[in-house]
Amino acid sequence: MGTVERIQAVADKIKGFRDRGDDIVVVVSAMSGETNRLIAMADQMQGRPTPREMDVLVSTGEQVTIALLSMALNERGCPARSYTGGQVRIRTDNSHMKARIKKIDEEHMRADLTAGRVVVVAGFQGMDEEGNITTLGRGGSDTTAVALAAALKADECQIYTDVDGVYTTDPRVVDNARRLPRITFEEMLEMASLGSKILQIRSVEFAGKYNVPLRVLHSFQEGPGTLITFEDDNEMEDPLISGIAFNRDEAKLTVKGVPDIPGVASKILGPISRANIEVDMIIQNVAVDKTTDFTFTVHRNDFQHSMEVLQETAKELGARETLGDNKIAKVSIVGVGMRSHAGVASTMFDALAAEGINIQVISTSEIKISVVIAEKYLELAVRALHSAFELDQITSDTE
Ligand code: ASP
Ligand code: MG
Repeated sequence: MGTVERIQAVADKIKGFRDRGDDIVVVVSAMSGETNRLIAMADQMQGRPTPREMDVLVSTGEQVTIALLSMALNERGCPARSYTGGQVRIRTDNSHMKARIKKIDEEHMRADLTAGRVVVVAGFQGMDEEGNITTLGRGGSDTTAVALAAALKADECQIYTDVDGVYTTDPRVVDNARRLPRITFEEMLEMASLGSKILQIRSVEFAGKYNVPLRVLHSFQEGPGTLITFEDDNEMEDPLISGIAFNRDEAKLTVKGVPDIPGVASKILGPISRANIEVDMIIQNVAVDKTTDFTFTVHRNDFQHSMEVLQETAKELGARETLGDNKIAKVSIVGVGMRSHAGVASTMFDALAAEGINIQVISTSEIKISVVIAEKYLELAVRALHSAFELDQITSDTE
């Protein structure tokens, strides 16, 4: 929803669907940049505005677009009604700015649909038990859309965004990145939590849980987009790897020369978690001389704070030294295909070795392998992996 012209283009598109006979519920987000603009104004009012007032403020962005879109639809002879989250009875808990949807009463939407109206709902917002306005966290319109689709048992939930689908990796880094015709919920969840910012993670969790077929499409270009769905039984056709995700969000901390005795990991990480810092990857070396090195990663924003906490602990443990590095990057390959194929890790490590890229930390799950490398090699690593797994061979135009 960029501008007034964009809203009109969306109205044309919706009218097209209506003319083909579909019943439609549309969830809209604010005009682009609007939520940030509202947050910036709040910053000028109060050092730390209460989350309740923030929600009253940021939810207004969507209230503007639902009204404008409904007007544009009515103007086109396509009857429509707009609703805020509270009006359409999206009941949430009371955790302002990160509320969770508890219940949706879809009867009211159904009444409009039966009467032939398009239902236009404000994304990203709901109402708690006391009637306070709540919001679902940044990007929350995706979650609203999936939740409504689940409640209404819709045939498909289509998310229109500024990319034409989910790609094998970021096309800004790899020229021949391919749009995936389909991807599984599980893979999409990994990609989203590893740094791909196409959909709010919660919307993907929700879609997987309630089995809502989800499609990512470009707002203003035609095309089939990417269907997010369950794993095919027809495993032969699954590519080994579906995508490569990466981020520069992490920092690495190492404490050297800690005693190799029970309880040390908990002594190191306990104070970190008590400081409310989330740890991502962890490695501990095998002891040489009864002492060992312990390494973990945290979000880059928590780097300084973590270093301070770790230095304290290191003193208490009599460790030799603490080291920190915030010029790292995490690169991950993701694919349900690796469940049934051995050798994926060695292909990955070979490809990195061939480029002379040193791997600092490794972590794996059933459908993912992540490595930490020096940030300056990030793009080289992603390109090397993209060609090692032949992701440029994927054909985008099935489905
Ligand atoms: N307008 C909200 C945001 O910018 C919600 C959304 O766009 O999904 O985060
Ligand atoms: Mg969005």
